Amino acid sequence: MQLPIQTYLADLYQRLFPLQEGELASYIPELTRANPDWFGLCIVTMDGFAYTEGDWGQPFTIQSVSKPFVYALALADRGVDEVMAKVGVEPSGDAFNSISLDPQTGAPRNPMINAGAIASTSLVAGATSTQQWQRLQATLSAFAGHELALDEAVYHSESETGFRNRAIAWMLRNFGITEGDPMPSLENYFRQCSLLVDCRDLAYMAATLANGGIHPLSGQRCMPAEHVERVLSVMATCGMYDYAGSWLYEVGMPAKSGVGGGILAVLPGRFGIGVFSPRLDDKGNSVRGIAACKQIAHDFGLNIFNHT
Ligand code: GLN
Repeated sequence: MQLPIQTYLADLYQRLFPLQEGELASYIPELTRANPDWFGLCIVTMDGFAYTEGDWGQPFTIQSVSKPFVYALALADRGVDEVMAKVGVEPSGDAFNSISLDPQTGAPRNPMINAGAIASTSLVAGATSTQQWQRLQATLSAFAGHELALDEAVYHSESETGFRNRAIAWMLRNFGITEGDPMPSLENYFRQCSLLVDCRDLAYMAATLANGGIHPLSGQRCMPAEHVERVLSVMATCGMYDYAGSWLYEVGMPAKSGVGGGILAVLPGRFGIGVFSPRLDDKGNSVRGIAACKQIAHDFGLNIFNHT
């Protein structure tokens, strides 16, 4: 017998598969090799059960979906006051790669745009950048529930072509948001973006946030409970870049997207959603990913502002 959520996902897949708008990310050649038709859906409930549909097992790079988890790690390692002094929590309304620093303090507006994400990466504990990387990889892996591998080709391309991110890293150094040579932390940022996930991993990562920071299957605490609300708040207001306002209006769940085509969304206390489809709109969000989350939120009345 098919479970109701499973039947629902199969139907959603069929309904949204014909949606073929959008373009693959093309700023590095590796991302253009994705099959534009790939479409995966996954919902993980608080008992750790994963409902999957379509290309849910297809690996892709996590890209900016890594940002909330690295922000969580920075909060855990440095505490709220130090992190808040260096990275704001205001939506910028600007594109993900905008420089967008506060003109007075030089602090990035929020941790979901590249400037705030690069600053968060540099705040992760570790005596050397290698140790910082080990901690980053271990934490993102704990959220997923298994060890995440690095896509070396994507990482090298990100690093070879990331001149704009390099400029952002030097701006952060100029304003004293980061200390020392900013390049090793920037390399860690490129590495974190190049970790391979599938859409089931994203759903488990989302479910771990929905579950107060504890992975629903492994039982591992991945971040301190006291910071979960902070991370979800910033995802709600800033997670979808310059589409964040419309997203909250129409979907109403904390979420994060990445240019690899992944989107994760969190319904606190209930479940995590992972969607993967690599065709992106002009803001860098997956077209089918947005459509799927809109539909799920609508069909189940999930908008966090819904009173029923
Ligand atoms: N690696 C990309 C960058 O830093 C990630 C951006 C994204 O997913 N929006 O530009």
